[in-house]
Amino acid sequence: MRLFILTLLFSFVLSFYSQAQGSGWQQRVQYKMEVNLNVETNRFTGTQQLEYWNNSPDTLEKLYYHLYFNAFRPGSMMDTRSRRQGTIAIGRGADWDSRVKDRIAQLKPEEMGEQKVVWLKMNGRVQQLQAMETILEVTLDKPILPKSKVILELAFEGQVPIQIRRRGRDNATTKVRYSMSQWYPKLCAYDQDGWHPNPYVGREFYGVWGNYDVRITIDSNYILGATGYLQNPQQIGYGYEKPGTTVSSPAGGKLTWHFYAPQVHDFMWAADPDYIHRAVKVRDSIPAARNGGVARQELTLHLLYKPTNVKPAQWEQILVDAQKALPFIEKHFGAYPYKQYSFIHGGDGGMEYPMSTLLISPGAWLHEWMHSWYQGMLATDESMYGWMDEGFTSYADDRISAFLTSDTGFAHAGSYQGYFALAKSGREEPLTTHADHYNTNAAYAAAVYSKGAVFMEQLGYITGAAVRDQILLDYYNQYKFRHPTANDFIRLAEKRSRLQLDWYKDYWIHSTKTIDYAIDSVWEENGNTQIRIKRVGLMPMPIDVQLNFSGGQRESHYVPLDLMYGQKPPEDTLLKRKSYPAWNWTHATYVISTPQKLTDITLIEIDPSQRMADIDRKNNQLKLDWSNSKPLR
Ligand SMILES: [Zn+2]
Repeated sequence: MRLFILTLLFSFVLSFYSQAQGSGWQQRVQYKMEVNLNVETNRFTGTQQLEYWNNSPDTLEKLYYHLYFNAFRPGSMMDTRSRRQGTIAIGRGADWDSRVKDRIAQLKPEEMGEQKVVWLKMNGRVQQLQAMETILEVTLDKPILPKSKVILELAFEGQVPIQIRRRGRDNATTKVRYSMSQWYPKLCAYDQDGWHPNPYVGREFYGVWGNYDVRITIDSNYILGATGYLQNPQQIGYGYEKPGTTVSSPAGGKLTWHFYAPQVHDFMWAADPDYIHRAVKVRDSIPAARNGGVARQELTLHLLYKPTNVKPAQWEQILVDAQKALPFIEKHFGAYPYKQYSFIHGGDGGMEYPMSTLLISPGAWLHEWMHSWYQGMLATDESMYGWMDEGFTSYADDRISAFLTSDTGFAHAGSYQGYFALAKSGREEPLTTHADHYNTNAAYAAAVYSKGAVFMEQLGYITGAAVRDQILLDYYNQYKFRHPTANDFIRLAEKRSRLQLDWYKDYWIHSTKTIDYAIDSVWEENGNTQIRIKRVGLMPMPIDVQLNFSGGQRESHYVPLDLMYGQKPPEDTLLKRKSYPAWNWTHATYVISTPQKLTDITLIEIDPSQRMADIDRKNNQLKLDWSNSKPLR
């Protein structure tokens, strides 16, 4: 028993306190915050003590903080950008987010957001501040030296905006009073690419890992859901107390909820007097020795909802489905390492936060939970690598959904359709585009969600599905809590697959070039049937061609891509595969052959798996009807 505890503690420490980022250093934070919210005025005051470890080799002369609530003021960058998107026609509508539109411009003073740092000290000395809407710049009186730690203290105050996007109060649909995400002055990330002080325009997040100790004081009739573990459940009650025990709350009309969240990069909370709270302990911790060498953290799932826009039974189903999905998720995508996760009614769609999500309705519960892996634990810089978050999350969501519904069809059809529409839209921009800087929201969404998910499924076409699955597990095991980059992922995939894959990243991520192969012509020559395949699109791929014959037999032909310097595993292990010398990417055509008679062939098909994202599938198939036709030439 003792040995087990030590082992568990050791592995926990190892995985949680690794300081490396990608292949190098990373900064570290420890927040201690107190906030007091007045539910009559919707204004709040708070203090923050932040221990900041500069693990970089750089001397920092400035610091930057996010002040997200300031986006919700007329004329803000977010407002201006949204109204600009409203002028761009997409299909029958406009490109602006239907939740935002020009609503920020219409806000009355009591509906606006406000976030203000009143003073800030570093190691006890007052520092010079310059607020620039959603970014606070701090010019330090003494630089922070490499490999050193400072203590930053500040006082903040502000106003919760009426809910326009993600955070805010009094959402019209859910009737949830407070969705409190990005509610505190949050230090910007500093990494190998320097500072990331992105002015907020309604997009992505990127944070520094550390521990959050948060005390929230609010009227005692409010029920909270939050990131982290509640430290004073016996004072709070509301279903957080140990079952069967008595709760003793302090006197007075207010309660202070004390949460602690280890190794997260953000802290969210939500509050409402009418939340229904369910808590289910899904499992106790499992020692590695009893679980095939893999330890599992104890886990309690929380559900907080209001029976406003969706019926209670649909909310409660989340807890049933989540418990069913968990073993499948951990087997394929890695362990969930925290002791709790909260599904919380709030926000305005589905939005992920560490150990929690805000959901307008139950539909996106799985997608948001899977963000715990890609946004929560891997936590790539979402602004730079949105596809590694939304795309990988969508990919996982599709696979787990298929498992939950026992659907054996192609799980990723929606992502492929989304990508094909994007590729043909004329609006596509490369996935390397900064999230804030896409010209349209439409192209951004289709790129990071759909093209990002196709990246992963199509990787399985290149490396084989079993190797791709192993890559996903390697990725989690090697890069959790390390902010990996696209290069980190590709290098890991190369090592596991023993294939060169830089070309895949270059074409799929860095460019908008598309895949289109076609059956060009078929003829008989010296008793063999020759089939010429043509690369129409600019992106090269390894190619499978299947031939069907009138006798019912099939042949599998495989043309490797030179750039891979290796072989893609057979798609169909029951079918013998004829392999050819590699197709040079410079060459537009390639001829394959079979000793079978042309008139015995009924079907020639490029990529019958349809996992290669060929934007024109019409020219991938040639059906031959010999009763009434001549061979093509
Ligand atoms: Zn998502």
